[in-house]
Amino acid sequence: MTTAVGGVACYVPVCSASVVACEYIAFAGRFIWSSRRVGARNMPFFDQHLHSHHSFDSKTEPAANVRAAAQRGLAGLTFTEHYDTHPDDWPSCVYEHDTYCSAIRSLRAEFGTDLFIGQGIEVCYQPDRMDGIVDFLASRSFDLVILSVHYFQGRALYKREQWEGVDVAEGTGRYLETVLEAVRCCERLHRAHGRVFDVLGHLDLVKRYTHRFRGSFDLSPHAQLIDEILQVCLEADLVPEINTSTMRQGLDEAMPGSDTVARYAAFGGTAMSLGSDAHRAKDVGEGLDEAAQVLRDAGITRAAVFRDRQRQDVAFD
Ligand SMILES: [Zn+2]
Ligand SMILES: [Zn+2]
Repeated sequence: MTTAVGGVACYVPVCSASVVACEYIAFAGRFIWSSRRVGARNMPFFDQHLHSHHSFDSKTEPAANVRAAAQRGLAGLTFTEHYDTHPDDWPSCVYEHDTYCSAIRSLRAEFGTDLFIGQGIEVCYQPDRMDGIVDFLASRSFDLVILSVHYFQGRALYKREQWEGVDVAEGTGRYLETVLEAVRCCERLHRAHGRVFDVLGHLDLVKRYTHRFRGSFDLSPHAQLIDEILQVCLEADLVPEINTSTMRQGLDEAMPGSDTVARYAAFGGTAMSLGSDAHRAKDVGEGLDEAAQVLRDAGITRAAVFRDRQRQDVAFD
């Protein structure tokens, strides 16, 4: 079928809902809802943020990711391929829904007795295109939907030109204001439609780019803004993730860092989603044990795990 995203047609055939439903009967009991099984593993984590060649910025064979997850002893992994929503990204977009569904079915057939293999998506927040995004999600089956802010003020934060003449404090504040706008949008959608997005991706992603383009990062002047983001997440039933990719890129903390995790716990947050944001197989599951320790230190001992858009908080102790 054809779906209009922001006025441009994207071809996204729907996979068979019945096949997905049948697979879940088998998968849910085996890997998710049995804490005995999860607790029996050495590293009982679910990596819920990673990419393969179904995303524009990864060349990795999906099966390589699964093999890496199995080697690490993960309880499961969920692919979260990029759903490119900004016109600048459309020329390089490789997401094709039918192909993606087919690949997940093949992986489950080959590896499905060893670990859970989830089919998720990482949607880029674009305020002018949310109606089309909601329609896209409503007609397709996913295990998990991440909402991520990759753009602010109409430009990608990962492009160097976005940072010309913008200092760390100014850029960080503007980015976080867009994240607050995004979670408020989620909260409105949640009231109107039920939960549309499950997880907020890398809420302080901006620090990766101020570090890269401006040589430093500092979230401390923006504590009030971050507090507001966390509180709206709780109201919107949107789980923040702890994303470990910064720890592979020269920063000494995950996204978010320990101060933000502690604030989330103080506001009543009891679980977060764990994600490596791997684009290469060797990074699957990387840093999740350190991230879990950050959560433990804040008093959070559960990971929010999503299957068929259903949330279960799984203890990792
Ligand atoms: Zn992202
Ligand atoms: Zn990602």
